[in-house]
Amino acid sequence: DDSYDWTNIISTTTATTSLDSLNSMQSVFELDDNYNVVLQGRIGQGFYGEVFKGTLESVDGLEEEPKRVAVKKLKTFAESTCLQDFEREINIMKSLEHPNIVKIIGVQRESEILLVMEFVPHGSLQSYLKINRESLQEAQLLNYALDIAKGMDYLGKEKIVHRDLAARNILVVDENHVKISDFGLAQVMSTDDYYYMKTPNRELPIKWFAPESLRDGKFSVRSDVWSYGVTMCEMFNYGEEPVLANVTEKIDEGVPQQQALLTALEGGARFPCPPKCPRAVYVRIIHPCWETNPHKRPLFSAIAEEIQELIS
Ligand code: ADP
Ligand code: MG
Repeated sequence: DDSYDWTNIISTTTATTSLDSLNSMQSVFELDDNYNVVLQGRIGQGFYGEVFKGTLESVDGLEEEPKRVAVKKLKTFAESTCLQDFEREINIMKSLEHPNIVKIIGVQRESEILLVMEFVPHGSLQSYLKINRESLQEAQLLNYALDIAKGMDYLGKEKIVHRDLAARNILVVDENHVKISDFGLAQVMSTDDYYYMKTPNRELPIKWFAPESLRDGKFSVRSDVWSYGVTMCEMFNYGEEPVLANVTEKIDEGVPQQQALLTALEGGARFPCPPKCPRAVYVRIIHPCWETNPHKRPLFSAIAEEIQELIS
């Protein structure tokens, strides 16, 4: 049974704040006992977290409509290191405000930590692509690609490296708009342009990693650009992961995935142009994201301009 009834969970710092204004507020509330979060069933799960669909309801019943929300919480086995990661995820989300980034509504810290965010109606882009593959038009896919590039450009300017950019972590607002979500692996950059990975608490999305990340654990805005190229392949593959020639065979022979992938990429191999992907999109947008030298990769602002040109 996936439904829970949480009482005394959510409130705002000001009793007069309405649910509608919650959404438009820039600040995030430490929610306590003016609002209840009612969880209605799990919509996703990852390594250490679970995401539920739910509603946010005012305790006094004065609010018109309960607000639909998505709620992320740690799985019960999660250790303290996971808790630190979750706190980082929350703090990063709190600092972000952009039309193409999923919005946090509030946090509750009583019995356990709940991250309450806006509910994005059509769920993950990965499943949306699979469900709608027959009807999706090229123009729509390019609109999604443009939204992602705009959101990523904003993130880079805010000195955030996402590190888990993939179709499963993009949420679909409507048939032409998407938002970036899942800041579980994201990091704030210090003064330098790179972040060196510490031993991770969770499985890593190796297939989306740039060669310098696979080899040296080095992440930057430009390794996010690499992942963006892989994400665009997923989009034009309608949610199926791209496959690199010979890597599967090497893995079957017992070579670790990270090493097999790195060897292939350093040998010059790249994910092929998806069958339904226009050549111009592959050549002008996707392939340049996979330059071995990170500094030769386009920045997200340039990618957005290039897509805009293709669309018009
Ligand atoms: P994890 O860290 O477990 O990967 P995510 O944040 O990626 O968690 O969420 C897992 C899944 O839950 C997503 O792929 C998506 O299907 C669903 N999901 C997450 N956040 C939302 C949201 N705000 N609205 C709708 N669905 C969401
Ligand atoms: Mg995820």
